[in-house]
Amino acid sequence: MVTQQLRASGIEDTLVLDAMSRIPREWFVPAELIESAYDDRALKIDCGQTISQPYIVARMSELLELRPTDRVLEIGAGSGYQTAVLATIAARVYSIERIAALAEVATKRLNALGLRNVDMHVGDGSLGWPEHAPYDAIIVTAGAPSVPQTLIDQLAEGGRLVAPVGELRDQHLIRLRRTGGRIAREDLLPCRFVPLIGEKG
Ligand code: SAH
Repeated sequence: MVTQQLRASGIEDTLVLDAMSRIPREWFVPAELIESAYDDRALKIDCGQTISQPYIVARMSELLELRPTDRVLEIGAGSGYQTAVLATIAARVYSIERIAALAEVATKRLNALGLRNVDMHVGDGSLGWPEHAPYDAIIVTAGAPSVPQTLIDQLAEGGRLVAPVGELRDQHLIRLRRTGGRIAREDLLPCRFVPLIGEKG
């Protein structure tokens, strides 16, 4: 998957490529979809949610410009696959998932992989996790019309936030970066995520 799909589609960050070559995606998909685990597409998981397409996981991770000392906030753990990629690269990952059953299964998978640097919380990620803020990187893996200001407020100086924004069928990835107290915005590629459901979603 890494050589044939990710490198070929322009992913260059070696930390991301190494992490994704080490994490077995088949652990994160439902048993009946194991044959499709390495296809470059999103797949259905429990509770009407999806595990993101590997290219999107790689691209979002690369856009976060992760360093091994970074503290990361993730909204929407879902299967836990993106969480595992983040936790392999960064120092600590704080992840919020609104569906308890998904958070529980994701935590079991992360433990089985020996990834002990993840704090998983069941709740509304649209409010962020102020207790551990500020974060060097914030990733939102569910779509909303705009990025909740509460999340932007939890971004450290120099921090990056990557999120899908837009309507249900017309979203694109954006990256925000806090520099010198200013927030710069870049509009990147089209994408489609399940909705961010929450107070600020
Ligand atoms: N990165 C995940 C994507 C899962 S889909 C993966 O590849 O497996 C998006 C997830 O966001 C779903 O599990 C959904 O339950 C969760 N979600 C939606 N709104 C949320 C919110 N306000 N807070 C936390 N999680 C949320």
